[in-house]
Amino acid sequence: MCELSHISLVSYQTLSLMGTLARPPLVSSASTKFVSCPSFLPKTCNSSVNKLRIRPRIHCRWTNFLDLKPEAKPELLDIDLLQHDKSDASPYDVVIIGTGPSGLRLAQSVSAYGIRVCCVDPAPLSVWPNNYGVWVDEFHNMGLEDCLDKTWPLTTVFIDDHKVKYLDRAYGRVSRHRLKNRLMERCVALGVKFHKAKAWKVNHKEFESAVSCDDGIELKGSLIVDASGFTSTFIEYDKPRNHGFQIAHGILAEVEDHPFDLDKMVLMDWRDSHLGNEPYLRASNDKLPTFLYAMPFDSNLVFLEETSLVSRPLLPYKEVKKRMVARLRHLGIRVKRIIEDEKCLIPMGGPLPCIPQSVMAIGGTAGLVHPSTGYMVAQTMALAPPLARAIAECLGSTRMIRGRQLHYRVWGSLWSVERRLTREFYTFGMETLLKLDLKGTRRFFNTFFDLDPYYWHGFLSSRLSIGELGMLGLSLFGSAPNPSKLDILTKCPLPLVRMVGNLALETI
Ligand SMILES: Cc1cc2nc3c(=O)[nH]c(=O)nc-3n(C[C@H](O)[C@H](O)[C@H](O)COP(=O)(O)OP(=O)(O)OC[C@H]3O[C@@H](n4cnc5c(N)ncnc54)[C@H](O)[C@@H]3O)c2cc1C
Repeated sequence: MCELSHISLVSYQTLSLMGTLARPPLVSSASTKFVSCPSFLPKTCNSSVNKLRIRPRIHCRWTNFLDLKPEAKPELLDIDLLQHDKSDASPYDVVIIGTGPSGLRLAQSVSAYGIRVCCVDPAPLSVWPNNYGVWVDEFHNMGLEDCLDKTWPLTTVFIDDHKVKYLDRAYGRVSRHRLKNRLMERCVALGVKFHKAKAWKVNHKEFESAVSCDDGIELKGSLIVDASGFTSTFIEYDKPRNHGFQIAHGILAEVEDHPFDLDKMVLMDWRDSHLGNEPYLRASNDKLPTFLYAMPFDSNLVFLEETSLVSRPLLPYKEVKKRMVARLRHLGIRVKRIIEDEKCLIPMGGPLPCIPQSVMAIGGTAGLVHPSTGYMVAQTMALAPPLARAIAECLGSTRMIRGRQLHYRVWGSLWSVERRLTREFYTFGMETLLKLDLKGTRRFFNTFFDLDPYYWHGFLSSRLSIGELGMLGLSLFGSAPNPSKLDILTKCPLPLVRMVGNLALETI
C-alpha cells in the first residue's frame, strides 16, 4: 500500500545539483533561439490532451518521495574575493546588504561607474539555493543567455484533462552557478569589496550611513542598499502589508520514467484527475487550486514543483505536498533519488516600501516581484543597470548629491510613476487570481494564453505600458467566456475600485 501518513516538513533548504548525475547539456546559443511551433500547430496551439493522457500505473509497493532525503550538498564558488579591510574605517560610496541576484547585479552595475562598493553577506560564495526559471528572450535581451543551463523551445499549459496549449515561447533554467560566478567575477574585476557577516542595523546621519554587522564591524557608506530578500528588516512601510503568497514544493529528482516531452517545459498543469480518489483534496483543490510546474532535463531527471500560484491566507505547505504525492502517483512518476528539494514561499503584491526612505532597496525587499506571477530574476537583472546609473549620477566624481536628495533620486529611478502605475495593474491581476476557484482559473488562463502574444509576453515580463495593460484588460474581458465575465463583475469590483483609486493617487 502506498504510504501517505508520514508527510514530514522538509527543511527550507535547496541544495545544489551534485555532479553525480549527468548534468543537462550546456546550451549552445543556437538552441536558445526561438523555435517555431510545429507547423501543424497555430502560434498558441490548443490541442486535445488525449494523446498525452497519462496511464496511471499501479504498483503494490510505492515509496513516498517525501521520505527520501535530498542528496546534494551546498556548493561554493571558487573565487578570490577582495575582502573589506577591517582596519580601514574610510567610507564606501555604496554598501549593499546581500549577494543574491539583486545585490550582485547592482554591485556589478554600479562599480562599473568607478563607484566604490562593499557587499556584506554571511555567505558571499555560496551558490544560490533557488531553482530559477525565466523566459529565454528576457535573458537574451540582456546578453545573459549563456547563463541558462537548459532551454526548452516550447512551453506547455494543461488547462484541464481535455485541453492543452503549446506556447511558442522558449523557457530556460538559470544556471545559478554560472550567473553568480559571472556577476562575482565582474565585481572582483571592478574592485568591489566583500565582507562576510550579517548586517544587523543601519544608522543614518545627514550625509552618511553605517551598517553594523554581527561581528562588530561597521561599514560606512553614502548610500546603503538593502538587497537582503523578502525577510529584510531594514525597509519601512507605511501601509498594511496585505501580501498574497506563492507557495510551492519542488524536487529535482532522478525518476524511473516521466511522461513529459523533453523539448517542452510544463509551465502549468491544472489537471486534477489525480484527485479522483481523494475527495478531501479534490474539494480543497477546487477552491484553492495548485498546478504542476515541470522541467524535464532528460528521460530520468526532472524538476517537479507543485505550486499554489497565489493564496491569502497561505495554503498550508503540508496540503501542497499531499497533492504532489497524489499527482506523481497518478502520472506514474516513481522517484528514485531526490537531488535537491525546495520550499518556495514568495510574498506577492502588497504595498511598496515608503518612497523615498534613507535605505535604498532592490530585489525581493523592494517590491520587484511580479504581483501576479511571483517571478523576479529577469526583472531585477534588467532594473539594476538603470538604478546604478542614477546612483552614479549622484555619487560619481562630477556630482556630489547626498542625503535626502540622493534618496529621492534613486527611489524615483526604481519606482517611476509609470512603473508604479503598472504595478497597480499587476496587483489587480493578483487580486483577481485570488478570487478564482479551479474552474475560474482554468477559464482565465485559457483566455489569457489566447491573447496576442505581444500582450501575454509583455504582461508576464512586466514590459507593457499602462495604456497597453488597459488594452490587455479590455481584450481579456471581451474574449472571456460569460462565466469569467460574471466572475470579474461579481468578485472583483472591490479590487477594481481600489486599483482605480490607487492609479488616481499615483498620478496626482
Ligand atoms: C524557492 C524560490 C524559487 C523562486 N523561483 C523563481 C523563478 O523561478 N523565477 C523568478 O524570476 N523568481 C523566482 N523566485 C523569486 C525571486 O526571484 C527570488 O526570491 C530571488 O532569489 C530574490 O532575489 P534577491 O536577490 O532579492 O534575494 P535573495 O535571493 O533572497 O538573496 C538575499 C541575500 O541576502 C543575504 N542576506 C539576508 N539577510 C542578510 C543580512 N541581514 N545581512 C547580510 N546579508 C543578508 C542572503 O544570505 C542572500 O544571499 C523564487 C523564490 C523562491 C523563494
